[in-house]
Order: sequence, then structure tokens, then C-alpha cells
Amino acid sequence: MLVMKFGGTSVGSAECMAAVAEIIGQVRGQHPRLVVVVSAMSGVTDQLISAARQAAEGRVEECEAIQASLLAWHMGVCHSLLVDADQRCRMGTYITERMAELEWFCQSVAVRGEVTVRGLDMVSAIGEKLSAAILSALLQTRGMPAEYMDASRVLVTDDHFGGANPLLAETKARLEEHLRPLVESGLVPIVTGYIGATARGVPTTLGRGGGDYSAAIIGACMEANEVCIWSDVDGILTADPNVVPEARTLEELSYVEAAELAYFGAEVLHPKTIKPVEERSIPLRIRNTFNPCHPGTLIVKEPSAGRSPTRAIISTRGLSLLSVRGSEDAWTPQVAARVLRCLGRAGVEVLMFTQSFSERNLTLLVWQRELSSGLRLLRGEFADELARGLIAPPEVRQKVATVSVVGGPSKDGQGVVPQTFAALGRQRTPVIAIAQASSEYNVSFVVPEDEMADTVQALHGELMG
Ligand code: ASP
Ligand code: MG
Repeated sequence: MLVMKFGGTSVGSAECMAAVAEIIGQVRGQHPRLVVVVSAMSGVTDQLISAARQAAEGRVEECEAIQASLLAWHMGVCHSLLVDADQRCRMGTYITERMAELEWFCQSVAVRGEVTVRGLDMVSAIGEKLSAAILSALLQTRGMPAEYMDASRVLVTDDHFGGANPLLAETKARLEEHLRPLVESGLVPIVTGYIGATARGVPTTLGRGGGDYSAAIIGACMEANEVCIWSDVDGILTADPNVVPEARTLEELSYVEAAELAYFGAEVLHPKTIKPVEERSIPLRIRNTFNPCHPGTLIVKEPSAGRSPTRAIISTRGLSLLSVRGSEDAWTPQVAARVLRCLGRAGVEVLMFTQSFSERNLTLLVWQRELSSGLRLLRGEFADELARGLIAPPEVRQKVATVSVVGGPSKDGQGVVPQTFAALGRQRTPVIAIAQASSEYNVSFVVPEDEMADTVQALHGELMG
């Protein structure tokens, strides 16, 4: 059995969906027992979450505009892909129903004036429900016996909303009951990635970018022969090819190496993806939907000897720094705990934080798209201390990027950490913050976003040359 997962950009438009359908058709010729896992169309999860947050902040018009554009977008995709009138009509109804759920949800959030992580899980699941339903309808029009499967029926998790953990025994039992019979009877299940539900049926998600993890969980529980993640790059590369055109694909990686790289660059592969497949020694492959002839990256227990050294630079844009500073009397470790708790409760992801006791300051790295929610939450949490001047208004530094360099020593024995610092010094890179480099195999730092490309290119030239 083969489990294939298609990411958001792979199904990001009607044309992309058609290309995915083509790939599925070809692969099925060689692997009759196939399970497909799919992400929401790119940008959709962001928009769903943003609609809920706008509603919570009382911005009804903005919220309605997002709803209207999501509806129009999915309807448009459906119309250009589905030729059969009946099927179009059925999908149209399905899309309208999901959008009615969104509307109802936003209205109740607007009344309450807040949105919880639990609520966000419910609403962000809509994206995968739409993309998986559209893709299975498309495959059916092409004569493939595809069948839509809502993962909340089979992927059982705990109630850690916003990043739930799978309960593997329960999930395996459900998959055996509901998914296995479909596959054995020759159907191709099209499963919603990213989402699950507690044993009692409360919707959960596995965390942003969690579609890869869904595929790995399903692959592991079903004892698949391989899990293949289809994204929009030729596997795992030595750097982002949009930044460094000469970046090379790493042909083979061990599970340990891939986990390390994934941890620093969640865009390529969700970091939790490795463990389920590693435990059962299931090969994991990363391939490019837009360049399907490329073999991509193969992740296995023991890569073949003689492969090229595995070093990579991972860079991420679209981030901001948020700082909280307190007066001498007000600053205790409790402040940090409160900051992290209040952001965590509302599902605002903190990618890195540094605390300086001497400066009584805590600096957090968050996604730019979540900055305004983060600021609002902090102002609410510390309203009292702000009014009394015990805490200064949070400061913001927008448009920063992270760069992580990961890998073993060079042929002449030089480690990545000293090599990176030497190169940064030579380039006079304005480093804003450095994340803990507790191992000699990686170092991460923050730079202004407009310095990122130059920094990554220079490091790639020096360290990968
Ligand atoms: N759609 C989800 C997200 O945008 C999950 C995924 O793409 O894997 O985070
Ligand atoms: Mg992803």
C-alpha cells in the first residue's frame, strides 16, 4: 500500500488539482492499493482562521468579505473542473453547506467576542473538507473510483486543541474498520489531512502544516510500503531554490537527519512526520507535483554510503518579533509564563523566544500574520500592569526572517556553527537574535527580512561549495 499526500500548493488551483489527478491516475497503475491525503487549497486555512479572528474582534465586514471570497473561489474551482451537471450541483451544495457552517461559527464568535483554539480547530477543518471533496469528485469524473473520507472519522486524537496528538491504537482500529475495506475493494480514499477528532468526536487539528503528519500516521497504522509527500519543490534541498538557484536536492537522508531539517523548516515537512514512519521503518519520499519526473528525496533508516554530505540552510520569511519589557519590580519568570500561556491559549504560535533577565525583557518570534492578534492578547493580559506602568507597551519589529544552518562537519572537519559565525562576520550580517545552539550540528538566527536572501546565498556559497 502507498500513502500519498498532496500539500496546499499542489492543489492550489483548478489547474493544479487537474495535475494532481493526473499523477494519482499514473501512480495507481503501479500501486492499486493507494490512499491519498490532501491539504486545504493554499491560503485557505489562513483565511478561515483570519475570518474567525476578525469576527472575534468585531470586524464583521472583513469577516464577511473573507467568507464571500472563499465561497466564490471554491465554486469557481468546482465549475472549471467538473463537467457533469449533477456532480457540479452536488459539490455546489456541499460547498454552500460548509460555508454556512463558517458563517454560523463566525456569528457565534462575534457574539462572544473571543475565539478559542478549540473553535479554531473546528473552523480550520473546513479547508481540507472542501479540497478533499473537490479532488475526489474530479477523480470520479475521470473514471477513478475515488471516495471522500473525513479524517475526523478515523484519526483519533487527544484534546490538545491546535496541535493534537494521535491515539495510535484507536486510530488503527478505526482505519482497519473504515479505510482498509475501501482500499481492499479497489477504491481510492481521498482523506482530509490535518484534521482529526477526539474519541468522543470533538474536532481537532494536528497543528499547522499537519497534513504531512496525517499521512505518516495513516501510513504507519496501515503498515504502508511507502509514504510519499508531494509538495512544490524537488524534495529537501540544500537551500530554498527561490533564494539560491544553485541549491541541490539531498537525494537520501536518514530519519534522524530529516527530522532535524524538518524541525527548522516546517514548510518542507512537518517535524512530527518522521516518528511514525521511523518506528516502522517505512520509507518516506518527498516529491514535486510540478516536476513529477524528479525522484525527490528519499528518507530511510540507513542511507546508502557515498552519498553527498547532508548540510542545509533553511530560511523562513513572514515573521515578526514582539518584545515585552517590565520594570524591576514587575519582572518575574511568571511574566514569561503568562505571555506564553495567553498566546498559546489563543493558538498564536511562538516559534522562538529569548529572555533577558538583565534587560527584564522577553522577545518572541511570531508569524507576521498573527502579530495583531498577539499584540491584542498581550494588551488584554497585561491591561492592569500596563495601566500602572509596570510593563511597557509591547514593542514590535516587523519583517524579520530566520535562517537555520543544519548539518555535520565538512570533509576537513569544520563544524557548521563556527563556519556560520565566521561567514556572518565576514559578510557583516546584521544578526538580530540567535536561538540556542545546544548542539554542534545546528545554529539559527534572526535577520531583517530584506537581508535574508543575501545571507543565505553567502552561507550557501561558503558552506556548501
Ligand atoms: N491546511 C493546513 C495548514 O495550512 C495543514 C497543511 O497544509 O498541512 O496548516
Ligand atoms: Mg506543508
